[in-house]
Amino acid sequence: MAKKDTTPMMKQYYEIKEQYPDAFLFYRVGDFYELFEDDAVKGAQILELTLTHRSNKTKNPIPMAGVPHLAVDTYVNTLVEKGYKVALCEQLEDPKKAKGMVKRGIIQLITPGTMMQERPDQAKDSNYLTSVISTNSGFGLAYSDLSTGETFSTHLTNFEGVANELLSLQTREVVYNGHLTEANKDFLKKANITISEPVKVESEHAEISYVAQNLTDDAEIKATKQLVAYLLSTQKRSLAHLQVAQSYEPTQYLQMSHTVQTNLELIKSAKTSKKMGSLFWLLDKTSTAMGGRLLKSWIERPLLSVTEINRRQEMVQALLDDYFTREKVIDSLKGVYDLERLTGRIAFGSVNAREMLQLAHSLGAIPDILNSLLETNNPHLQNFAKQIDPLKGIHDLIVNTIVDNPPLLTTEGGLIREGVSDQLDRYRDAMNNGKKWLSEMESHEREVTGINNLKVGYNKVFGYYIEVTNSNKDKVPTDRYTRKQTLTNAERYITPELKEHESLILEAEAKSTGLEYDLFVKLREDVKKYIPALQKLAKQVASLDVLTDFATVSEQNNYVRPDYTVDKQEINVVNGRHPVVEQVMTAGSYIPNDVKMDQDTDIFLITGPNMSGKSTYMRQMALIAIMAQIGCFVPADSATLPIFDQIFTRIGAADDLISGQSTFMVEMSEANDALQHATKRSLILFDEIGRGTATYDGMALAGAIVKYLHDKVGAKTLFATHYHELTDLDQTLKHLKNIHVGATEENGKLIFLHKILPGPADQSYGIHVAQLAGLPRKVLREATTMLKRLERQGAGELQPASEQLDLFTAEEASEPAISDDEKDVLDDIQNVYLADKTPLQVMEL
Ligand code: ADP
Repeated sequence: MAKKDTTPMMKQYYEIKEQYPDAFLFYRVGDFYELFEDDAVKGAQILELTLTHRSNKTKNPIPMAGVPHLAVDTYVNTLVEKGYKVALCEQLEDPKKAKGMVKRGIIQLITPGTMMQERPDQAKDSNYLTSVISTNSGFGLAYSDLSTGETFSTHLTNFEGVANELLSLQTREVVYNGHLTEANKDFLKKANITISEPVKVESEHAEISYVAQNLTDDAEIKATKQLVAYLLSTQKRSLAHLQVAQSYEPTQYLQMSHTVQTNLELIKSAKTSKKMGSLFWLLDKTSTAMGGRLLKSWIERPLLSVTEINRRQEMVQALLDDYFTREKVIDSLKGVYDLERLTGRIAFGSVNAREMLQLAHSLGAIPDILNSLLETNNPHLQNFAKQIDPLKGIHDLIVNTIVDNPPLLTTEGGLIREGVSDQLDRYRDAMNNGKKWLSEMESHEREVTGINNLKVGYNKVFGYYIEVTNSNKDKVPTDRYTRKQTLTNAERYITPELKEHESLILEAEAKSTGLEYDLFVKLREDVKKYIPALQKLAKQVASLDVLTDFATVSEQNNYVRPDYTVDKQEINVVNGRHPVVEQVMTAGSYIPNDVKMDQDTDIFLITGPNMSGKSTYMRQMALIAIMAQIGCFVPADSATLPIFDQIFTRIGAADDLISGQSTFMVEMSEANDALQHATKRSLILFDEIGRGTATYDGMALAGAIVKYLHDKVGAKTLFATHYHELTDLDQTLKHLKNIHVGATEENGKLIFLHKILPGPADQSYGIHVAQLAGLPRKVLREATTMLKRLERQGAGELQPASEQLDLFTAEEASEPAISDDEKDVLDDIQNVYLADKTPLQVMEL
């Protein structure tokens, strides 16, 4: 950058800017943060600021734009939410006391992955910064949410796996070490992920070795260290709340790709990308933000261990059975603030006295929760309670130190209770004595001067003064009072005595606020020592919240506790329902359906008209499996399930926006994913596979895929198809069964029964659906004719598509299957046997 302005300040600016070329530099000047040069031009545009220029007289004035320091957060958030980075440059010394240039430095680099979520609507969202190391044998990946300090790590064999984790985590920023191909870069760009360079650390900070202490995999250790180093270098402070990284294998949980999670609408609705309409939306009746975040992560990572599932189920059952305990627990949970994030703010040093008190109040709610659980006779609830340390000491320490209603600012006093520090109490005495002296002096002066409305007041410029209104001016004892300020209707005076006491009062006040701040910082440091214990407690409270939530939701919606078959791949769901569809329909109108697949049945080939409920039936199965594996109860009369290791889907025509592939390509790569990776223990949902290409092509592929799944994979598969020809496969594939969704005709209209029945659908109802959609009668009539002809020819010997679709050479149907009232009048007339009609009848007709 050309350094056009060589004043000392701009010299300092350029020096700092050089170290942060990829960030907007917010440079503090007095009450403003200024942007210069390109930052100013770009920033003015994005933030809608007025662009001005520094030193207008020179030939090349420097572009400049500023924001008031009090409003800086909003501007920073706007930029960071758009994927930019912001370097906050502060004055590091008091400009009044500085000799020469004020010292300045970067106090924090705010990036998309390190932004703290402060808005209330973001309380249930996590913001993960991810770090990736590419090695010869694959990738190490680590991620952390800076607001809670939670950290995880894993290793993956290919970039596909990395991409999947990044999408699932909804990460906004990745610190990447290694070579990125153009395709990889393209992917990250389309997914809106900021790529950041790793930072070098000379010495290993305590936090780095602490977080990585339990890891054994080399790539994971490297990724984790890179992550912590980046956090330290951007935040520029100690990060005592970072938690020991937990290593996980994706195979430790029920695996679902990001696409599968999206297709099944686990966290967001596919249509709106909002929470509403998703499984998370349905299940989330949690009382705390921590519970909400934990529920989300449970939904994304269902369990594989029956023992662990059982442990959750026992708690849910106990809470479901005991309404009063549950209500008491919920009541107490409502008094618990976001312990995890409060703990983060303590470590971060950004906590204020009110938040400190919120922490104490949260801790104050814990004994009530424990008592409610311990008072029951249920061993599961009691054991849960016994493992919790309510950290009473911290609660007492805080409430005994901080006053009941502390101010927001920690620097202006008024936060520390009396009796906490003798020194503070002495300063306060001095202040109080001083103020008492002032009020005594006021009454004394009123008496001796006879000025009844004489007042002692205070302002920042003149300090304490005596104010006398103009009407009493002549009574002022000018020998003792010195005039200091004239107002329109009053005069202000001082006396030597007053000034003497003023300095005593002000000195005590300054010392007292300073000491209060120090005491507050000491309290913060004392609490900091308990961060790991607080984090553990937060996790326990969060899981109790989610388990209570499961009990509530299961009770409200009549869910049952699922059973697990041991060592048998059998599904037996009786009267299962789709949990979300059921909720959005009028009560009682959802038609329940069974899923019964014994050991010998792997594939259900599902046929039936469009809109009859095939897709709902398949999704229902997947959602029941997921709900069961997170420990929740399920929407059914009873359910026996195997443990699924993976779920694969090919559902609908949801286009893959990120990779920009064609629909058919996406369809095939999703199918491929299942064919390559599914095991006997997986669940596969294939809806209308082959639709994206020509009929024969598609049908042939669909048939071959079914056969492969049957012969080679053996996963439990629900396969919906509109190719009726495939239903013959049950004669050769012995683990395949035909089922269909029932529909009947009434008066030539189609009625969906939404009921799953054995065997293939015997008729294609497409034309009826087309009729319901209001297609022109001519088209319907032609289609009916075509259908008749095709049925006569037999499905096995279909004509080539060109002939098949030749609508307008078709012969007339003898009985068009459209309703009477909608029949073309011409039709009627054509069919009338005129010979038996009178001329009048013909005319009426
Ligand atoms: P398909 O996949 O056969 O085209 P969908 O599964 O998309 O059909 O279902 C279409 C609509 O039918 C759904 O939006 C829902 O309103 C209704 N539906 C589906 N299954 C049921 C059911 N079991 N009970 C009541 N309504 C249902």
